[in-house]
Amino acid sequence: MPRLLTQSQFQRWKKPDFCYLCGTTLKDGSLLNDDHCPPQSFFSKPDRTNYPIKLQVHERCNHKWHLADETMSIFLDALHGTEKSSNPKHLAKLNFIDIKSEQGIYQGITKLPIRPLAYRIIRCMHALLYKSFLKVETVHDIHYPIPEADTANNNKPFSQKIQTYQFSNELCTAQRTETHDAIYAYNGRFKYICTWHKLDNGQSICLFTFDIYKLHNLAVKIADYPRSVIGFYAAEKPQNATLCSLLKLEHPDEDILYPILSQ
Ligand SMILES: [Zn+2]
Repeated sequence: MPRLLTQSQFQRWKKPDFCYLCGTTLKDGSLLNDDHCPPQSFFSKPDRTNYPIKLQVHERCNHKWHLADETMSIFLDALHGTEKSSNPKHLAKLNFIDIKSEQGIYQGITKLPIRPLAYRIIRCMHALLYKSFLKVETVHDIHYPIPEADTANNNKPFSQKIQTYQFSNELCTAQRTETHDAIYAYNGRFKYICTWHKLDNGQSICLFTFDIYKLHNLAVKIADYPRSVIGFYAAEKPQNATLCSLLKLEHPDEDILYPILSQ
């Protein structure tokens, strides 16, 4: 049941000896650098001290993320201050469009690299918790707390999937029965929680949820829209990964919409 909830637990934890971005050894003589995942620039300075998640990766695997990280950091700055998000020079790097919904017209941002970044965080957490490489091609699906607009359909928001609520329910059960794995960092502003299931066909899946501050505060409010990142990936269950309790528990709607139970 791996849980890294404090800086000292993180420091004592043995780190992967491979690069979580490409899966090959770190001891191949190539240049290495420290990757902060999620990036430090997403968090306010006081929250960076306790504590950033830092893993070694190949420099060649890491450098291509720079632009995506910068774009996200301008956007996320609005969650903990307005140093960057009130600066026209930074704002010019984000592309805005008008989004039409039942609630009216509001501004949306295009080309926000939230998808690749969320998946990178998941692959990093998998490597850190289980010392196991999660391939890019792994089957997975992710719900984002920031509604996405379908540019092929008049910029209308995509509807959410039923499975997200089922995953959320299982994640609540896992936490209430202590059958989950977890990583908290950046002063608790980043929380990652996951649990494992075996499907009837024998395939193992990991259900996960995470949040950075309260991402949903950046988006327009939509009723019954889950408010954290929630999803699954299919992979062989690592030995130290925790299987979810099979108890059937009922959880309040509020918890299903935000399945990170320790606030
Ligand atoms: Zn690499």
